[in-house]
Amino acid sequence: MRKSIFNFLLLLPLFMLNACGQTNNKANKTSKPIAMENVISKPENPYYSNTDTAKLNVSEAEWKKVLSPDLYAVARQADTERAFTGTMWNSEAKGTYYCAACGLKLFRSDQKFTSSCGWPSFFEQENKNSITFKDDNSYGMQRIEALCGRCNSHLGHLFDDGPEPTGKRYCMNAISLDFVPDATVAKGNLESIVLGGGCYWCVEAVYEKLEGVDKVVSGFAGGTVANPSYEEVCTGRTGAAEVVQITYDKTKTNLDEIFQVFFTVHDPTTLNRQGADVGTQYRSVIFYANEEQKKAAESIIAELNNANVYGSKIVTTLEPFKAFYKAKDYHQNYYENNKDQPYCQMVIQPKIEKFEKVFKDRLKKK
Ligand SMILES: [Zn+2]
Repeated sequence: MRKSIFNFLLLLPLFMLNACGQTNNKANKTSKPIAMENVISKPENPYYSNTDTAKLNVSEAEWKKVLSPDLYAVARQADTERAFTGTMWNSEAKGTYYCAACGLKLFRSDQKFTSSCGWPSFFEQENKNSITFKDDNSYGMQRIEALCGRCNSHLGHLFDDGPEPTGKRYCMNAISLDFVPDATVAKGNLESIVLGGGCYWCVEAVYEKLEGVDKVVSGFAGGTVANPSYEEVCTGRTGAAEVVQITYDKTKTNLDEIFQVFFTVHDPTTLNRQGADVGTQYRSVIFYANEEQKKAAESIIAELNNANVYGSKIVTTLEPFKAFYKAKDYHQNYYENNKDQPYCQMVIQPKIEKFEKVFKDRLKKK
């Protein structure tokens, strides 16, 4: 595939069209009313980080501002949520559990067990600094309180009636934990990558037509809020981007071609914007899941910049992949299901036509 990169570079400027959304506005994008009951207002939390482990010293007044009231009550006032709240207590999903207040890594799923107590329970912590302890003599009981090692938020309690090999039971409040499922990058010949190039309807519609692509799912990645809704992402405050998760057969296409298509069908030079779609949720971004994806992305960006293909510098960000959250069903295959919508005709259709010209030999056979 590498040999064809020069053809691709030569063709690209000829087919640079106006960016997504130029002739329209997003109001046309939603044809059906959106259920608002799932919209939870999560305040911005500047102290949240999955990578920073430096201890935090934040005032209670400040925590109150940045945490949701329910999380504040548990994390900062040692409240206890009701047992059997939500589904985390008996979840066996593979992944990592982070402090919901500050993002510190606390547990891995292989340190978890399902306890009949109805709270998420673990027999061991991620590392010796991730959780600290304090005697708790409240309610006439002698218990050991478990606190986040970074932000000192209340997580739950530690008991001595857990399973082997430790005999410990970390009894946690589910609201104090953020769960991020493990990324599945490769399976047999299938590999996947997560890309954001503005409105996900556009990007999804194009990749659905590329030979070798097995599946394209629209959703969200990045940011600080687990499983954000479309409405939350649209506020631009979650840090999440509209993305597609592309699963492809590496014997029929490859990362280079996936990236070539990506850089053909969106404008990677406009910061946090595609045409009329403006906001960090529309940023041009590659979520790399391993070093190979990161290197391949760096390499094509350098080639395009060196050849000055766009006339200005590429602003696509490379961000480590943490989690992908699928968007609701009516966002999937949106173009196929809504071809008569003005947004599809004016914004998505031209992108597909451009893609079909540049990659005419690489279209799926009908
Ligand atoms: Zn914390």
